[in-house]
Amino acid sequence: MTVEYESYGLPLDEYQLSRADHRRQSEADEIAAWVERQVAKAPPWSEERYQQLQALLDSHTAPPPWEYMRWRVRLYCGHIQEIERHCRDARPDRGTQDTRCSECGKNPSVIVAFEVIGAVAEPPKAPKTKSQNTTSRRGRTSRRTKADLEAENSALRAEVERLRRSDTK
Ligand SMILES: [Zn+2]
Repeated sequence: MTVEYESYGLPLDEYQLSRADHRRQSEADEIAAWVERQVAKAPPWSEERYQQLQALLDSHTAPPPWEYMRWRVRLYCGHIQEIERHCRDARPDRGTQDTRCSECGKNPSVIVAFEVIGAVAEPPKAPKTKSQNTTSRRGRTSRRTKADLEAENSALRAEVERLRRSDTK
């Protein structure tokens, strides 16, 4: 499987926001506000239910680091950050994960421009293809950041909450 990684809006530090960006950001804001309202309206969870959810989240094991690509992205707020996405994603701004800016805290702050950097890590035993390049730190680079995990976690929680609500109707 080969993925053609896309880039958009380069150079990142000179990118100007488009009307589409403003629209996407306000949609993301609306969705986030909506989720917050739903969660606020929902009856409090029992300790048991929380533990069930926690077990569910724990059992959802993250793919290994070599299945992730590192991207440099510019967020709506103007900050440039590095994030990781699964290698099957040809671009980092699709999907359900909102991006929180770790610099100014804006959450969500949509991705407006991006370029791929490379794989997060090399697989443990890559089949010998062409000449090995001389990277000394193979497979040891950091996994997903805490912010990524938190974002994913809250997305999953929101999803579980949504399913739970539609289930009781
Ligand atoms: Zn920011």
